[in-house]
Order: sequence, then structure tokens, then C-alpha cells
Amino acid sequence: MRRAVAWWILGGLLLAQVAVMALSLDGTLFAGLVLNAVYLLPGLLVAGRAWRNPGPDRAAFGFLSAGMTAYGVANVYWYLVVRDLDPEPLVSPADGMWLAFYPCFAVALVLLLRRRLPRLSTAAWLDGVIASGAVSALVSVPLLATVDPSPQATLVGVVVNAAYPVCDIVVAGCLLGAWALCGWRAERTIILMIAGMALFATGDAFSMMLIWQGIDPWPAWIELTWTIGLTLLALAARHTASSPGSAAGGQPAGMWVSTAVPSGLALLCLALLVYEALADHLAPPVSSCLAGIAVAAAILRMILSVRSAEALGAARRQARTDDLTGLANRRHFVEHLDLTIAGSEPCLSVAFVDLDRFKEVNDSFGHDVGDSLLRMVGDRLRAALPDGVLLARLGGDEFGLIMPGCDAGGAGTIIENILRTLREPFALPEVDLHVDASVGIAVYPDDGTDRPTLLRRADVAMYAAKNGHDGLTFATGLDDQARARLTMLEELRTGLSRGELVLHYQPKVLVGAALEVCGVEALVRWQHPVRGLIYPDDFLYTAESADLMRHVTAAVLDLACRQIRSWHDEGLPISVAVNLSVSNLRDPEFPAQVASLLERYDLPPSALELEVTESVLMTDADHALALLGQLRGMGIKLAVDDYGTGYSSLTYLQVLPVDDLKLDRAFVSRCTTDPRSAAIVQSTVQLAHSLGMRIIAEGVEDDATLAMLHEYGCDIAQGYGIARPQDAATTTRWLRSHQIATLAA
Ligand code: C2E
Ligand code: MG
Ligand code: MG
Repeated sequence: MRRAVAWWILGGLLLAQVAVMALSLDGTLFAGLVLNAVYLLPGLLVAGRAWRNPGPDRAAFGFLSAGMTAYGVANVYWYLVVRDLDPEPLVSPADGMWLAFYPCFAVALVLLLRRRLPRLSTAAWLDGVIASGAVSALVSVPLLATVDPSPQATLVGVVVNAAYPVCDIVVAGCLLGAWALCGWRAERTIILMIAGMALFATGDAFSMMLIWQGIDPWPAWIELTWTIGLTLLALAARHTASSPGSAAGGQPAGMWVSTAVPSGLALLCLALLVYEALADHLAPPVSSCLAGIAVAAAILRMILSVRSAEALGAARRQARTDDLTGLANRRHFVEHLDLTIAGSEPCLSVAFVDLDRFKEVNDSFGHDVGDSLLRMVGDRLRAALPDGVLLARLGGDEFGLIMPGCDAGGAGTIIENILRTLREPFALPEVDLHVDASVGIAVYPDDGTDRPTLLRRADVAMYAAKNGHDGLTFATGLDDQARARLTMLEELRTGLSRGELVLHYQPKVLVGAALEVCGVEALVRWQHPVRGLIYPDDFLYTAESADLMRHVTAAVLDLACRQIRSWHDEGLPISVAVNLSVSNLRDPEFPAQVASLLERYDLPPSALELEVTESVLMTDADHALALLGQLRGMGIKLAVDDYGTGYSSLTYLQVLPVDDLKLDRAFVSRCTTDPRSAAIVQSTVQLAHSLGMRIIAEGVEDDATLAMLHEYGCDIAQGYGIARPQDAATTTRWLRSHQIATLAA
């Protein structure tokens, strides 16, 4: 508040000074009071700022206020003491105080800059030299021309009075240099300081001229240049940004300003030098020297700019190149795609090419071989592509193509060609490798008209190609399906952690007159909070492809074991069959997990049966065999599920460590109507028995089938005709109303 009042007073004093001038009141007491106050107040305002803000700029403002206050005090002294002397001396103690302003100002400027400019580039320093040299040179021409001492002047008088323009030149040079060091930012502080000092220099120049010419009194407006100059300096202190790093606080100067200002100044200096040479010593030698320095700095600056432009170009190229393959990188790819979309092509295609099983190459042969392969793939792709197609390595084993002017047909032809090229073996130091790739293509404008959409669709298409082992997939029509899949996966992940999986149980009975229950099969369902009960065929494939099956089986096994425990506790000694997936048979930890579950629920191994489909067994036969051997060794019963739908050879069946064969319902359900199915059922029963296995018939839907199975000697039956899969409570009731065979059955 008090500060605002002080500023209002200063404004009022300036107006009063103008009024004094306009009304020709010079020499009155009022004019003297106004003038001395208006000289003193700006320095005091800066001192107030230094006092109030104990920040790092305090010292700088301390010096500035000291200089400005000395200036004000000098005036008071001159007004009270020197003014009335006759003759008025050319030099007095007031000059000492006036001149003290300049070193104080210079120190303040250095302190302000030192904190704000931690590290300066050579270019910034050169800009500083150009600016300070040029401004000093140009300002020195008119200012030094005013130094024209009268014959009576003493040496001290000449030196002291010449010191004003010289100091103005130095300060102007310093200020412009400082501005250059700040990167020519349009900061209010610097602008106000420059304006203030420009007024100072103007006043000094004119007053010197008048002094040498012996004109007294001076016109009143000269005083105004100094008082307004001081006010501008006080304003500069008020507006100085106080946070470090905001050297300038203002907006960074545009390219135009940062090149035009030093170039303009250097050109002016050059003009000065040329004019000086032609007009024979027009300018003082000091000005020519300063101009020469500025021009030399400008030449150096130009050389530096050319060098850094070259380095920038190289860095830009490097930043857009993939180190390993020398191809364009993702950044280049993205920029190029934006440009191509913005261009005039009526259509374009974007493709993602991902190598299949590249991870295995890395794992088996090491990263060096992997890197060599990527380089060779890059070279081969480049050679196979027509001109105008941009090839980039987007990361890992993923490459991207931008095919301007290509519709789906054109892109398809190009991709078929590169897939063919890739299939030729790659001769690596240790091994010849065959590489396959999955490619997804998105076409502009059909699949999208902006970069993110096109890239997303190409990516989704690439994943679809990978999952479907298709090699090449177009994005069109894929998105909804892919989005649904991603949503389901996300929901399944949360569903798993929230325990949304539930088990239904389907009884298995011994085929015979009594239909004794010999076990139940646990079948998983997903109790979805919105979609209701979801059956396994609708989510297990997705879970498997996203590597979630381990978690699903773990959840199912836990639920099943808990249920067995509870049935056993209720006096229902039932065994439960759980279905396994392919990832379980690849997981060396799996037997240990099963063992720990049995231990946790205190169950005999015979209470658990594990079912593995024929196709799962065949996916990774050797691993499966070893793991099943381990599980069987623990006393757990094993069954081959859906038997007859895969193609397990008889030799393989002979060595499989399993107890039961579950004949697929495709044969069982038709065995009463189709003699060929009946023959298959009959012979499979015999085969199983001859291998020491029991046969379980799936999909028994009626009594006729059951009777036929009985006739063929089938051991166990399961199907809607006996009981549908039901939740645990219903199954418990069903079990209570049926006779249960002993666990060993
Ligand atoms: P699966 O192991 O062969 O299970 C038998 C499937 O046949 C069950 O379908 C069952 O409801 C159905 N089914 C039983 N009797 C009849 C019948 O008389 N007629 C007909 N038409 N169908 C019958 P669901 O429950 O939909 O399971 C389908 C498949 O999902 C299972 O085939 C199994 O391969 C898999 N599956 C189920 N639960 C799990 C699990 O917890 N883990 C794993 N890895 N797979 C599971
Ligand atoms: Mg099964
Ligand atoms: Mg089955």
C-alpha cells in the first residue's frame, strides 16, 4: 500500500516538474523542492525494494539504489551549495556523486546477470560482444563529438565532464550486451533499463554540448531526461523477475529478432567503418576500434552459426535413424506419416511387420545373432520395396511401412512380395534361419483419416495376423472384434481377482445297473457382473491367448479342492476331475502347485483327476509326457479328454501315463444311429482296455445310448442324459440321492 502511494507521489512529482517547465517557474522554491524530490525518490524506491525482498537480488538492488540515491544527493548538494557559487565551478563534489552512479549501476547489472545466466554458449558471448561493441561504437560517435572543451577548461574539468558520455557509452554497451546474453528476450526489466539509460545518455550529451559552449541555464527538458531516466530504472527494479532461470522472464526472442538485431548492429558498424574510411576520420578512433571489434565478433558468430547448423542437421538425421539397421526410426516414421496424410495422395497404406518367434532366436542364439538377423531383415526388406515406400524399424522386431498412393490391393502385392523374400533362409554365422512375419495393414482413408487411428488399426490387424497365423491381415472390419477381445481380457483379469469364476459339476457314473457315481467333472463358468453366466468356450480361448490360463486353472483347482474338502467333510467321498490347458503342461511349477493344494486342503491325491485334451497333449508332447509322469507319480489320476478328435498315434497312446480315455461325444451321441460311430465306440473300448485304461463316454444323452455303452463294456458315462452340469449346491443334493462308488473306483 505504502509502495503504491510512493509511486503515485513520484508520478505527481514528475507532472509537477512538467508543470514547472510549462509555467516557467524555474528558480522558485517550489521548483527546487520538486526537482530535488523527483531526483531522490526513485533511488529510495529501489532501496525499499532491496530492503523488503531479502532474495538473491538484494545486493544488486542495493548497489542500484546506492548509485541512484548518490545521483539524487548530488543534485541536492548542487542545488544547495554549488548552484549559488560564482562563477559556478566546472567540477565539484557533486560530480563525484553523479559519476558514482555508473559503477554502482554496472555492479548491479553484473550481479543481476550472474545469477540468471548460469552457463552461456560461445554464441551468446559473441552476441554480447557484437551488441556492446556496436552500441558503444555507434553511441560514441555523437557523444564524443560533444567533448569540445573551451580553452579555459582545466584538465580535471575536461576529464570529469568527458567521463559522462564515456560512462554512458560503456553502460549502453553493457546493457545491449546483457540483452544479447539473455537471448534477446523482450524482458520488461531490460527494456526499461535500456530506455532509462538512453534518456540519460541523451541528457548527458546535450548538457555536455551546452557546457562546452558555455550556455547557461540549460533548457528545462534536459532535467526531465534524467528524472524520467531514473524513474524508468526504478520501474525496472520493480518488475525484475525474481526466480532464477527466468533470466529474462519474458518470451524467448524469435529467430528473427535473435538474428536480425546482431546482424543489423554489425551492418551499422560496417557502414561506420566504410564511411570513416571514405570520409577521412569522421568518427573518433575509439568508435572505429569498437566497430571493428563488433564486426570481427559478427564474422566469428557467422562461422559458428554455419557450424552449428551443420551439426544440427547431422543430429536431426541421427535422431531420425535407427542405430541398428540404419533405417528410419519411429520418430521419422510418425513425422513422415503425418506429412503423407497431409499431402495430396488420394490413398495410402500403413503396414506393421512383426517377425514371428524372434524372441526364440534371441533366447537360443543370443542377442548378437538376433541383432544380425534384424539387420539382414532390414536390408532385405529395403531391397524388396519399390521406390517411395518408407521403411522404418519401430522397435524390437517390429518394422513399419508407409506406402503412399497404395490402396489395399497395391499394399497387398507389396507385402506378399516382402513376405516371400523373408521366407528365404537367412545365413547367420551359426545357423541358417527361416523367418516368418505377421503383417497388419491399414488403408487411408477407408480405415482412418488420422495417424492415431491408422496406426491403431494396423497394430490390431498385425496382432490378428499373429493370432490367426495368417501372415497378412487387413484392418478393415477387425476393430470391433479386437476391441471386444481387449475388453473381455481386462474384465477377466479383474474378474479373476474378484473371484468371479465359479464351478459347475457334472457327475460321472459307472455304467451298469446301479448307476453308482464315481466322480464329477468340474466345469468352469464366469459369473460376469453384467453379462451373467459365461460358458468356457466363450472366454477360455481368449484367456489362453493372453497367457491367463495359468491363473484360471489355479483358481479352478482351488475352488475344486475346497469343494472336495467340503464334500468329504459332509460324508460324500467324491473325486473331482479338473481340465488342464496347454500352458499348465508347459509350467514346470505346476505339479508342485497341485501338491501344495492337496496338502492345504488335506486331500488324498486320488480325490483329484486331471483331464488333458488330445490336442493339448500333442502340442508339446515331450514336455507333456514328462509332466504327466510327475503328476501320476504323485498319485493323481489322469484322463485324455475329447479322445478321437485329435490325432494321437497309437504308439503314443501306449506310452501315455493315463488312467482314463474320455471318448468324445461326437462318437457317443451318434452311436445308436450311426453304425460307423458305434464301431468306433466299440473298438475304442477294446483299445482302452487292452492298454489298461478305463473308458469314459462323454455326451450320453439318453438311455438307449447308455444301454449300448453297457453292451460294449464301457466303464463310465457322463452326459445330459445322466445329469447336467450344476452348481455345487444342486450337485450336492443330486449326490445325496445317488449311491457313491468308493474313491478307488
Ligand atoms: P469337456 O472337458 O469335454 O467338458 C464337457 C463339455 O461337454 C461341457 O461343456 C459339458 O457341459 C458338455 N456336455 C456334457 N454332457 C453333454 C451332453 O450330454 N451333451 C452335450 N451336447 N454336451 C455335454 P462346457 O462346460 O461348456 O465345457 C466345454 C469345454 O471347456 C470343456 O470340454 C473343457 O474342454 C473346457 N473347460 C471347461 N472347464 C474348464 C476348466 O476349468 N479348465 C480348462 N482348461 N478347460 C475347461
Ligand atoms: Mg473335460
Ligand atoms: Mg470332453
